[in-house]
Amino acid sequence: MIRDTIKYYSTNLKAPEVSFKEALLKGLAPDGGLYMPASIPKLSREELESFTGAEYHDIAYTILSKYTGSEIESGVLKALCREAYNFDIPLEKVSGNKYVLRLDCGPTASFKDFAARMMARLMNHFISRDGLHFTILTATSGDTGSAVANAFQGLDNIKVVILFPLREVTDIQRRQMTTLGDNIRVLAVDGKFDDCQQMVKKAFLDPSLADLSFSSANSINIGRLLPQSVYYFYAWSKLAESIHDKIIFSVPSGNYGNLMGGIIAREMGLPADKMIIAANLNNEVPEYLRTGKYRIINPSVNCISSAMNVGHPSNLARIMALYGGTMNEKGVIIKDPDLCRMRRDFFGAGISDSETRETIADSYRKSGLLLEPHGAVAWRALELYLKETQSERTESFFHVSLETAHPAKFSEEINNILGFSPKIPDSLIQIENKPENYTVVENNYVKLRELICKL
Ligand SMILES: *Cc1c(COP(=O)(O)O)cnc(C)c1O
Repeated sequence: MIRDTIKYYSTNLKAPEVSFKEALLKGLAPDGGLYMPASIPKLSREELESFTGAEYHDIAYTILSKYTGSEIESGVLKALCREAYNFDIPLEKVSGNKYVLRLDCGPTASFKDFAARMMARLMNHFISRDGLHFTILTATSGDTGSAVANAFQGLDNIKVVILFPLREVTDIQRRQMTTLGDNIRVLAVDGKFDDCQQMVKKAFLDPSLADLSFSSANSINIGRLLPQSVYYFYAWSKLAESIHDKIIFSVPSGNYGNLMGGIIAREMGLPADKMIIAANLNNEVPEYLRTGKYRIINPSVNCISSAMNVGHPSNLARIMALYGGTMNEKGVIIKDPDLCRMRRDFFGAGISDSETRETIADSYRKSGLLLEPHGAVAWRALELYLKETQSERTESFFHVSLETAHPAKFSEEINNILGFSPKIPDSLIQIENKPENYTVVENNYVKLRELICKL
């Protein structure tokens, strides 16, 4: 059977549509925009029903095959899904109809593993099939770098260059990137995450670096975005008894790739009601929903949920596109989206550090629920939502808050709040004694370019 193949357009609307393979390997469109599927495929009722009791990798296959179409053979894609998703995904009941989905049991203990492991396998599939060579250049606020490095380590035709903000990642996060060696090169930028991200974007568009065949592994890559739709379906399939059962997710958001995965899932037919946008004090999107005015937060605010310290999320351009608007890469709204529909579909909240800490303490004491800062922001936003809506309607819904990192990655913070350190997963114990290897670089694009050329 020949499946239809979806094309991918740029959110800046000034570049030609491309195939899945091209969108995946390019990362960023040549006009500086982000790739989006030209149409979002809908799942049939039978497909949704088939998810009940299905394994995670089977659901992943059903969803991803809609986007890869005839570009990847189904047997190959099935095998890639099975290899990528070989770890636990616990759905923890907290109380009543409230749950936490733990996306923190992959090899690097953050939800970034879901996307990075699939994207690496998809890229490697095309690159080795076609005898190509690539450099993955990516900026990380902490967890992307390790997930990407881990997912790509040891692949022959792919070199990985990772930029991270020198003072904004934890020791564990740094070690997870700097102890791999091999084809993984790590640069510590004396600046903020937004600076790293800006420099990556510049390098992509820099003709003098064209020989390196850059690709991006940030959440701007469509190959990372699409796999992030799968766990929304998975959580629903575990809870819903019929296709009419609705679900509400609370999503800790920084660069809005996670949320975008959920939005795509809903567009594909997931019976999801509101999506809760849980931000820290980098609350430019909740503020946009409230006031209708978009203001970048520059410099970004340093909060303890550090992976969410993003003053202008890249994926916002995609959200705008889905709601009929256009936003350029500088965060300027060229065409207004349907703000009414956005307000209907989202509930936004900006959570402070003291509220985050209070939530870590309260949820543990009241329910035995152990959260780290990112998951606590989401849990707090869910509580806020339930308090503000107080609608009887929501009682019949399932509520799922996403926990995006393992508490052991934030053991100092948690120890200060709860007086004990979370149990460290095996994957994190292994890196403690390995030698680190990275280079510190000024927050200066010309210096960075020199370095990249020498790597
Ligand atoms: C990256 C990250 C986030 C934010 O996800 P986005 O897709 O960038 O919105 C939240 N929590 C953790 C632990 C992360 O690593």
